[in-house]
Amino acid sequence: MYQRILVANRGEIALRIIRACRELGIETVAIFSEADRGAQYLELADEAFCVGPPKPVDSYLRIANVISAAEVGNVQAIHPGYGFLAENAHFNEVCRSCKIDFIGPTPEAMAKLGDKNSARELARQAKVPVVPGSAGLVTSIEEARQFAHEVDFPVLIKAVACGGGKGMRVAANDLALQSALQQARSEAEAAFGNGAVYLEKYIEQPRHVEVQVLADLHGNVVHLWERDCSVQRRHQKLIEESPSQSITPETRQLMCEAAVRMISEAEYTNAATVEFIVDRDGNFYFIEVNARIQVEHPVTEMVTGIDLIKQQILIAGGQPLPFQQEDIPQRGVAIECRINAEDPKKNFQPSPGKIERLIVPGGFGVRFDSHVHSGYFVPPYYDSMIGKLIVHGATRDEAIAIMQRALLELRVEGIKNTSALHREILSHSAFVEGRVDTTFVERTFT
Ligand code: ADP
Repeated sequence: MYQRILVANRGEIALRIIRACRELGIETVAIFSEADRGAQYLELADEAFCVGPPKPVDSYLRIANVISAAEVGNVQAIHPGYGFLAENAHFNEVCRSCKIDFIGPTPEAMAKLGDKNSARELARQAKVPVVPGSAGLVTSIEEARQFAHEVDFPVLIKAVACGGGKGMRVAANDLALQSALQQARSEAEAAFGNGAVYLEKYIEQPRHVEVQVLADLHGNVVHLWERDCSVQRRHQKLIEESPSQSITPETRQLMCEAAVRMISEAEYTNAATVEFIVDRDGNFYFIEVNARIQVEHPVTEMVTGIDLIKQQILIAGGQPLPFQQEDIPQRGVAIECRINAEDPKKNFQPSPGKIERLIVPGGFGVRFDSHVHSGYFVPPYYDSMIGKLIVHGATRDEAIAIMQRALLELRVEGIKNTSALHREILSHSAFVEGRVDTTFVERTFT
């Protein structure tokens, strides 16, 4: 097993990985930008190196600097977390050529699944249902029109590289199609340097349900059940839970098996999430694979009792999975609320600044994954998530009650945050009854 790992990330996920390594007896090397210098969680790593100025392109995304830190830190492996370089196949390849293990899939498997268009092709091969869509890339407005008339409006224009809700546009008619096509292309070109797009039928008021998969280097592939992430705003997840309220036990079985088939077909290893949307009739369709650990992984950990970060490290180190499919439970109900430094009353505008006082909730069934503390300064350069509040209850009603109680206990003074909005969502009848789709938050709270 590894003696030393570099954590190529910041904030809560960096802390999460440092903790898992410590428990495994592995030393950690952290990296930080000038904006994160002095952050408390860095003290928990065995060593920490500055990789550049505050902007991500100058530090956390700067491959040469991250690799230098790994070389000087003398590590055997790099854990990329999520975001930043986590799904960068080039970085993955650079790690390989420097003889440093990348804790994740091979660059080949990552490239195959990272491009949404080729991932759709792979899903078709694995006999996994895919959203009706164009056969391949769409390069002209004529092609787009033809497809839209075949499947009927509304359609969704999606960039092959889209992420975080960027590079996606809905078009309801011919007139809207042209500008939507242009907008999706230019947004994706600016954000990801790749303007290639394809078309999908827009599924109205869908649920978002995804399956967690683990695959080792010995051909074992298992699923760890599903997470429902239908509570979203602008295609960004706000609340996640497991099990999903949106599917029947039969659908759950079919969906989990489909996810395993797809990951096996891709000869993919390590952790992956296979994402689906579910239409109003309960049909599910593949939308994408995330070739990394996800923000919402704790809800799966709470219902299965399996530490996903440790499993990622053990898998990369060559260990076979210590369990089989039938040993993986889905026990009770877990819910996660993302606590973002944003002002829900001002269109979710980011609210960086000093946290004057922080009171962290506790008690039975409560977990708070966060790197922040009283006196912490939330820098304006990064994602606005400052913590994840996760609860676990025997039933869904109990989990909701624990979350409501924990949200009341949580105090973040000095900056705006999303906790009050979460309390409203959790007490809304549609959420309590498990009837929310991905448009619920925007229809109800904005
Ligand atoms: P990203 O990589 O930006 O997260 P995804 O493909 O995962 O993009 O889609 C994000 C969200 O967009 C989904 O959770 C869902 O709410 C919505 N979405 C994606 N595809 C469709 C579709 N064909 N019809 C309706 N909504 C969709």
